[in-house]
Amino acid sequence: YASALPVPDNPLEVEQLASSFNQLLETVNQKSEQEKAFVSNAAHELRTPIAVILGHSKLIQRRGKSHPELVNHSVAFITDEATRMQRLVNQLLVLSRADRAKSERSYINLSDVVFETVEEERAVLSQRIAVTGDHSAVVYTNADNVQQILRTLLDNAGKYSPKGSLISVKIQTTDTKIILSVTDEGPGIKPEDQPRVFDRFYRGDFARDEHIQGTGLGLSIAKQLANLNQIELDVTSNQPVGTIFTLSFNNPKYQLS
Ligand code: ADP
Repeated sequence: YASALPVPDNPLEVEQLASSFNQLLETVNQKSEQEKAFVSNAAHELRTPIAVILGHSKLIQRRGKSHPELVNHSVAFITDEATRMQRLVNQLLVLSRADRAKSERSYINLSDVVFETVEEERAVLSQRIAVTGDHSAVVYTNADNVQQILRTLLDNAGKYSPKGSLISVKIQTTDTKIILSVTDEGPGIKPEDQPRVFDRFYRGDFARDEHIQGTGLGLSIAKQLANLNQIELDVTSNQPVGTIFTLSFNNPKYQLS
């Protein structure tokens, strides 16, 4: 005979159990909704460049011989869109790895990583970049991940602020934290949009209206890498113009004391 499960004396326990089960179910459902939305967004983002590439290659096939001047024009579109797809797919791969990745951390001098990255970016950005602050700050982190986050912040400052303006990179030390900030002189981000910039595929109106190249994945990858290393990544407005992104590390000196 199968015996019935003992019913707890206190019916409240059953209710509590049911309610935590429901909460769990809700979390699982939300997660799977997010996954579905992510896959459908990714497919959607890939669809546009694929359509452009197909359109132009058909055009070349049909009319390339009789209108050779069309070929160069179409090839330029195909190259642009293929480059966009390549960037998107690379970023999707980074995101899927960052989901599972474990980061190897060590004590590093933060300004070494900052200077290396800034030098690389100076070669490609048309803004001036100034580095100030505490050059001796040591953090316990993964240098490659920090470099990738900083590269994204500098690339964005470059994309969204005027040529020749100033991008300021600062390292500040407090008793408990070491804060790395990137400040630009661009249009800024409205307070109500600020939390959304870390969402996958989110692109602001300015980025879309001005046709600035991008996938809307850079900051979501940066956020994921920051979480992996227990670094807080935040955004605020600069006054009166511009944006400030901050990375806050725990100060290892405080943790040891
Ligand atoms: P992408 O730059 O490819 O669009 P990101 O995830 O890096 O994607 O950024 C998301 C959005 O956040 C951008 O589309 C833009 O609207 C906004 N943004 C990011 N950095 C800045 C910045 N420095 N100044 C103004 N807006 C920014």
